[in-house]
Amino acid sequence: MEHHAFDAIVIGAGIAGATAAAHLSATRRVALLEAEETAGYHATGRSAAIWIRNYGSPDARIFTAASRGFFEAPPPGFADAPLMRARPVVHLAPADQVADLRAMIAEGADMREIPLDRVRAMVPALRPGYAALAAIEADCFDIDVAAMHQGFLRQARAAGGALALRSRAGRIWRQGGAWHAETASGAVFSAPVVVNAAGAWGDEVARIAGLAPIGLQPKRRTACIIDPGAHDCADWPLLGDAGHSWYVRAEARRKLMVSPADETDSDPCDAQPDEFDVAVAVDRMQQALEIPVSRIEHRWAGLRSFTPDRGLAIGVGTEKGFFWMVGQGGYGMQTAPAAGRLLAALVAGQDPGDLAAAVPLCDPLRFARKAAA
Ligand SMILES: Cc1cc2nc3c(=O)[nH]c(=O)nc-3n(C[C@H](O)[C@H](O)[C@H](O)COP(=O)(O)OP(=O)(O)OC[C@H]3O[C@@H](n4cnc5c(N)ncnc54)[C@H](O)[C@@H]3O)c2cc1C
Repeated sequence: MEHHAFDAIVIGAGIAGATAAAHLSATRRVALLEAEETAGYHATGRSAAIWIRNYGSPDARIFTAASRGFFEAPPPGFADAPLMRARPVVHLAPADQVADLRAMIAEGADMREIPLDRVRAMVPALRPGYAALAAIEADCFDIDVAAMHQGFLRQARAAGGALALRSRAGRIWRQGGAWHAETASGAVFSAPVVVNAAGAWGDEVARIAGLAPIGLQPKRRTACIIDPGAHDCADWPLLGDAGHSWYVRAEARRKLMVSPADETDSDPCDAQPDEFDVAVAVDRMQQALEIPVSRIEHRWAGLRSFTPDRGLAIGVGTEKGFFWMVGQGGYGMQTAPAAGRLLAALVAGQDPGDLAAAVPLCDPLRFARKAAA
């Protein structure tokens, strides 16, 4: 049996595991275990790659805002190209969603009403009469997810870390003050710290380690790519309804991503798109945009995994040295730089600084405490 001793083991090499490994690697040698043949095969490779300030749970918003500086100015050598490209977000309200949008404008930072003819100037395909009110968040951007993910993995490797692919942790136990993880090939990795960054499999990994789950629920989201016909959509804002029942985002001049913003409960799995959800996406989009669709160029689905209160779970669990880094839901990309920074601070027992307000909100033990109360 091969045995590899490290300072920390991270389970899962999606964006959560990658940022955790990169931030931990400043002071520790990290083994990053990934079940699949490639890192980023699951949720991380399937996202819409957008940063939206007014999105998600209260702790997600703290991480999102605190991550902005990283996207603007990543460390030297982190990536060859910029990590961000400006793309405003426009929310449309049909008559029955006007009150919802007004509430979003009142609560949101940097969100303001915008005349509908201004929206039509940006998106000529907008059907007259679809929306009664529109609002814009100008300060949003596309994220180069592949560049960020690779950048974090490179950082971990450069500091002496190891990325072990095809290495599902199938047995996890604590012995002699260290956590041990045995992979499918029989190799055993040990370290005083283990980080559960297994995405949709987060609760499964806890169970394998003999610990209580926190109630993670993976939810399938579907997306497809269509040709926007006569339109060049490259510079369109991300556009969706205030009721979160559809959105579109340009992938290229002639490629428009369309999603029904679905949230279908799922077990952890290699999520596949359902034809019905693709049809719903196109139908809802076509109620708002005059775009004929003769062919779906590409379709996919991924799992967005939520804790019971839809906040993240970052921090130590019930057992010494077992850290959670799960529940990134629909905001794992935009929160990643700050979330990894907090995880590393908590592992090191350091002051979380500007992220202090997020600590109680993302405490993994909050669910057990609530159940016990
Ligand atoms: C359609 C869609 C659109 C999205 N849009 C956005 C967006 O615009 N902006 C944004 O910020 N976020 C978005 N997200 C959310 C984002 O993609 C996720 O929050 C993020 O990818 C979660 O990353 P993760 O590393 O936790 O999970 P994953 O990428 O799923 O990684 C978990 C990894 O753990 C591995 N694993 C599991 N069990 C084991 C084990 N026992 N041993 C070893 N490895 C294991 C898995 O193989 C997997 O690779 C979107 C998601 C979807 C599906």
